[in-house]
Amino acid sequence: MNPFIISCSKYIEGAFLAENVIIIGSGPAGLSAAIYTAREEFKPLLITGVPAGGQLLLTTKVENMPGFPDGIDGFELIERMIKQAEKFGARLVKENVVDIDFSSRPYKVRTDSQAFDANAIIIATGANSRMLGIPSEMEHMGTGVSTCATCDGALFKGKDVVVVGGGDTAMEDSLFLTRFCPHVTIIHRRNEFRASKIMQHKVLSNPQIKVMWNSVVEEIYGKQGEKGVSGVKIRDTVTNKTQVVVAQGVFIAIGHSPNTKFLHGKLKLDDLGYIVAKDEVVTEYPGVFVAGDNQDRHYRQAGTASGAGIKAALKAREYLQNLKA
Ligand code: NDP
Repeated sequence: MNPFIISCSKYIEGAFLAENVIIIGSGPAGLSAAIYTAREEFKPLLITGVPAGGQLLLTTKVENMPGFPDGIDGFELIERMIKQAEKFGARLVKENVVDIDFSSRPYKVRTDSQAFDANAIIIATGANSRMLGIPSEMEHMGTGVSTCATCDGALFKGKDVVVVGGGDTAMEDSLFLTRFCPHVTIIHRRNEFRASKIMQHKVLSNPQIKVMWNSVVEEIYGKQGEKGVSGVKIRDTVTNKTQVVVAQGVFIAIGHSPNTKFLHGKLKLDDLGYIVAKDEVVTEYPGVFVAGDNQDRHYRQAGTASGAGIKAALKAREYLQNLKA
């Protein structure tokens, strides 16, 4: 056992039983932080959230994670990371965090049924893609429906796809998808895009991209008895007419919501609820770090989230070592 863990605990009066570090969230950011802090013998407590695993569970095949030339199933990738973290001494609590008290140290973390004290905290709660709210999108999630063009675009090589949304993500995704897909149709609910002008110009001047304005997706069809998507039912919101657009892939790009509701009024958040952090990981409270998609509005990749988790873990190590000094 690392002797400094005990002296750490002694350092703050009343903190003897406090955890060295609590990590909240079990996507690539939280699990990478757990692996690193566990290897430093901090015995991190990982509160996974329910269900554990984050957005990777919605992906069938992850093809862009370095080290996996044949790709890896998202679920398996998470399982491997959990195994690796546990091997070095991370302990998992499969619950949701409902509250944190930053007003005094050690900080207090409360789940649905338990309360913990922590000298350091790494918040890696991720973000959820906004969804259309139609049942068929979840039926085909990971087998024709995707929320990440960067992750899944190459799986649709030679296929026609639709992209739903009118913001910068929808523009960027559509342009990216033209590398693989002969025809990309953007479905947007209004008659103008929200995206930046420069992105709009790129999209509107691309011959592979067609836009259906004032249109909403009512249903995603899959071929019976087979996995995969065959088309989408679109309704024109002006005429109310419906039509089926043939497509083998549907990319939903209507924004994200960071999982930070429990932090409102407690930690600095931006207008969309993302955590405001210095150098990606440092919050306004000593020993409280953040990692991954709950802070990152832009990159949102398993690899970048994992990198942020590692940075947060190294910062936590530095913080805990300074407590001892
Ligand atoms: P945004 O919130 O900017 O855009 C979401 C889009 O989805 C909007 O066009 C919205 O329509 C539409 N939408 C929302 N809900 C629904 C729904 N239920 N059904 C149909 N359509 C819906 O999200 P983004 O992810 O595009 O961007 C997030 C932030 O990240 C922005 O600040 C953006 O500028 C930034 N970003 C920047 C990039 C860059 O600089 N290269 C790349 C990607 C993102 P409506 O317009 O009608 O509200």
